[in-house]
Amino acid sequence: MPGSSRMPVSLRDGFNTVRRRSRAGGNPLEMVNLDLIRNIVFFLFLLRWTRRALWKLRGRGLFGTLAELYADVRRVLYGWFLRMPGVRSQVRKQVDEALAKLQTKLVPANATRYLTLPKEGWAEDAVRKELEALASMDHTRWEDGYVSGAVYHGEDELLKLQTEAYGKFTVANPIHPDVFPGVRKMEAEVVAMVLSLFNAPPGAAGVSTSGGTESILMACLGARQKAYVERGVTEPEMILPETAHTAFRKAGEYFKIKIHVVACPAPNYQVDIRRVARLVNRNTILLVGSAPNFPHGIIDDIAGLSKLALKKRLPLHVDCCLGSFLVPFLDKAGFETVPFDFRLKGVTSISCDTHKYGFAPKGNSTVLYRTQALRAYQYFVDPAWSGGVYASPGLPGSRPGALIAACWASLVTVGEAGYLASCTQIVGTTKKLLDHIHTSPSLSTELQVLGNPLVSVVAFRARSLNVYDIADGMSAKGWHLNALQDPPAIHVAVTLPITKVWERLAADLEAVVEAEREKERVRVVEGKTARGGQDKAGDAAALYGVAGSLPNKSVVVDLARGFLDLLYKA
Ligand SMILES: *Cc1c(COP(=O)(O)O)cnc(C)c1O
Repeated sequence: MPGSSRMPVSLRDGFNTVRRRSRAGGNPLEMVNLDLIRNIVFFLFLLRWTRRALWKLRGRGLFGTLAELYADVRRVLYGWFLRMPGVRSQVRKQVDEALAKLQTKLVPANATRYLTLPKEGWAEDAVRKELEALASMDHTRWEDGYVSGAVYHGEDELLKLQTEAYGKFTVANPIHPDVFPGVRKMEAEVVAMVLSLFNAPPGAAGVSTSGGTESILMACLGARQKAYVERGVTEPEMILPETAHTAFRKAGEYFKIKIHVVACPAPNYQVDIRRVARLVNRNTILLVGSAPNFPHGIIDDIAGLSKLALKKRLPLHVDCCLGSFLVPFLDKAGFETVPFDFRLKGVTSISCDTHKYGFAPKGNSTVLYRTQALRAYQYFVDPAWSGGVYASPGLPGSRPGALIAACWASLVTVGEAGYLASCTQIVGTTKKLLDHIHTSPSLSTELQVLGNPLVSVVAFRARSLNVYDIADGMSAKGWHLNALQDPPAIHVAVTLPITKVWERLAADLEAVVEAEREKERVRVVEGKTARGGQDKAGDAAALYGVAGSLPNKSVVVDLARGFLDLLYKA
């Protein structure tokens, strides 16, 4: 019997028994054999799907499961509708129009374009002149504090020091620690400093990465590997607050980890831990909480998640990418705070962006683990490569040592006192802004702050106006705030540059809200329900007006892909 030697022993035994029996009884041997296998396969199939159905029912409840089913059906049907002949071309036309409009904004039409290497290299002065022109292209004024998030420090002195540090290590690559021993030392020290900031216990360990996304990807990958090695989990799942950074969903896509998203309901907008608990099953590899999350700036109940993680013996990742060097200083700065770090026994990993409120240049972040063993799950080692034995701690091979030097220089020059002072200033401003929204006659009646933000982000929705019109109104005044969805809202992430101009921000917000109210009044007087004439929807209102109402977001996906293409339009 060719191939029978490859059969699993148990199956082979069954096969032999069947063969013996079938000889005695004279039954056609193949039929009996096939029946047996078919039964086994069917039984396993049934077991698998019954178990999944039960997990689903327990996780979402009957109502939740039906609601999900309904949303799925609507999505599929609407997807078919969008692909119908007449509809498809209409949609394509509108997407193309929107992209053409975007192109005029992003890609300057009449600038000189350099699409091939210059035949002869430019003189240095020519390069400098062109770089100067590029740096001063018309842009949203982060220098004047008009941008939410993005540039967290931006003072000349620090920038100069960072550039100097970078210049000293331009050629450095930590993949060669013998060639660049100083970079190895600085990298290890950056990780050690952040570990100590988050009260890591003895034996804790970490790595530095290129940014928060990579830190999160690594934590998810590590958790997946751990579950595979220790528990044989081959169909990994993780449970996320809906407000958790989308990098976790990216990890799900990249590493084939199924995602369960859990609601973060009003009034506190923290993840509902009872619902998290219901979704845990034997395939769960990781629980997640944010401190704070990006959309609403709310810190999840990390203590509650920690308790759950301990009870279910699961790893818990705390995303402190945004909280970075603010949250660890809240207490010392005298602000209200909650437990969030390794002092909670269930917390097994933390991501912290040194390039956000750590004020390091972009391209710096850290991911911390409670033990070295946890860190080792993200390592990649190839002992057999023809290029030599190869080992790297994370995704990249070569890495910019210069960025590590600039990060190290930032941390030691700002120091504990400096971070404490900036926490006082940034969170202090956030509280003033919050207070203003709650007390200003025009804002308090219209804007509703989401939850109780303890750090640097204030998110608000509008009671009667379209909040995206407010975002567009602010854009027209030169501000760059962040539009959010589900629920429709906008947020401001306060940075050092914003602390200097927050009063103008508040005044402009009042002016915009008043202006939108006036437009609304006119609309009502004229008996209109929709916009018309001069009253065109702005960018945010147009995008989210469409996106919010669609059961199937494939149009938005097309738009976003077109946007990515535009980024590479030379
Ligand atoms: C910014 C951010 C991240 C991702 O960081 P990147 O550096 O942009 O990759 C993750 N989580 C939160 C809460 C963030 O605000």
